[in-house]
Amino acid sequence: MTPMTSAPESRPLLNRRLAEFGTTIFAEMSALALRTGAINLGQGFPDTDGPEEVREAAVRALRDGRGNQYPPGPGIPELRTAITEHQQRFYGLGFDPDTEVLVTAGATEAIAATMLALLEPGDEVIAFEPYYDSYAASIAMAGGKRVPLTLRAPDFRPDLDALRDAVTDRTRLLLLNSPHNPTGMVLTREELTAIAELAVERDLIVVTDEVYEHLVFDGEHIPLISLPGMRERTVSISSAGKTFSFTGWKVGWVTAAAPLLTAVRTAKQFLTYVSAGPFQFAVAEALRLPDDYYSAFRADLGAKRDLLAGGLADAGFEVHRPQGTYFITTDVAALGEKDALAFCRALPERCGVVAVPNSVFYDDPEAGRSQVRFAFCKQESVLREAVTRLGRL
Ligand SMILES: *Cc1c(COP(=O)(O)O)cnc(C)c1O
Repeated sequence: MTPMTSAPESRPLLNRRLAEFGTTIFAEMSALALRTGAINLGQGFPDTDGPEEVREAAVRALRDGRGNQYPPGPGIPELRTAITEHQQRFYGLGFDPDTEVLVTAGATEAIAATMLALLEPGDEVIAFEPYYDSYAASIAMAGGKRVPLTLRAPDFRPDLDALRDAVTDRTRLLLLNSPHNPTGMVLTREELTAIAELAVERDLIVVTDEVYEHLVFDGEHIPLISLPGMRERTVSISSAGKTFSFTGWKVGWVTAAAPLLTAVRTAKQFLTYVSAGPFQFAVAEALRLPDDYYSAFRADLGAKRDLLAGGLADAGFEVHRPQGTYFITTDVAALGEKDALAFCRALPERCGVVAVPNSVFYDDPEAGRSQVRFAFCKQESVLREAVTRLGRL
C-alpha cells in the first residue's frame, strides 16, 4: 500500500483545532539566523550553560545510574522535596511534596496538561496578549476558547476593568504570566490582589506561568497562590530552564492544592508520563543553590538588560524597558517601520541581527503591529557586537 502523502480533498490532515497553527516564529527566525550567520537575539535561550556544579550533578546522576530508567510518575522524591524547599525559602509557601508537587517536561508540558485536564470543549480561557505561543495551541488542543486581554504599550499594565468585563459564564480559567514574556511586565501586589478578588468572586481557577520568577529587576515576584483565597484555586507553574540556564533539559513543575494537582497529573501521565530522569537529580541540587546564586544571576541579567536597552535606544528604537524576564520589547515605528514581521525578516540582511516580531503573539493584529522583541540572555561580548550592528540601521 502506498502511504498517504496528501489529504483527501474533502478533509485536511491537520485537524480543525490546530489549523491556525503553522511553524512557530522561533523556528523560522532561528533558521534565518543559521542561514545568514546573524546574531540570534530572537529565541530566548542563553548562549552559555548554567552552573558547572549543576552540569556535573547531571553527569554524576547519569554515571551512577540514577534516573536512567523511568523515574516515578510525579517526579523523583528528591526533586519534589527540593521544589517545596524552594517555595518555602523564597515565598514562605508550604507544599506537600507527595500530593501537591508534579514534575513535568518543562513548563510547556505543565501548561498543556493543565489545559487538557481542566477544560471542557468551549470553555473560555482568559490570557494576556501578547501571549507565549504555546498558550494558544494548548488551549486549542483542549478544545478551549482563548479570550485575549490585550496589554498595551507603553507600560503593558493589564486593564483590570477589561478583565472583569471579559469574564463570562463560560470562563473557566485565567492563564497569567508574570514576569511577562514578551513585554517584561511584572504584576504588582495591587494588581494581583484585584485579580485574586475577581477569581474568588467568579469562582475561577488561575494558572500562573512563573518561569521568570528569578528575573525581576524592578519590583518583586509575588506568586498569586500566596494571596488570600488563592491557595485552593491556583495552579502554579515554573521551570528550571530559565532560572538555571539549562533550557534544553526541560524540567518543569506544578505546585497546587492536591485536587488540582491530581487533575493535572492525570493528563500529564499520558503525555510524556515521565522525562529527564538524570536531570531531575541535577535540578534538585540546583534549586538548593545558595541565595548568592540567585542574586548574582539576577544582577548579571539586569546589567545585560541595561546594555541592550541603551544600545537599542541609541540605534533609534523606542524601548519599553522591561521590569523582568530576559526580553526587551521595542517599537520600530520610531525607525519609520510599520510592520514588525517584515522588519524582522529583513533585519539579518540589513545588519546581521535576528529578532522576533511581537505582532505574531497577538490576536488583535493592530495592537502589536510594530513591536519587535530582543533577547538579552547572551554573552556581554555578543550583546556589544549586536548593539554595534544595530547602530548601522
Ligand atoms: C520559556 C517559557 C516557557 C517554557 O518553559 P520550558 O520549561 O522550556 O517548557 C513557558 N512560558 C514562558 C512564558 C516562557 O518564556
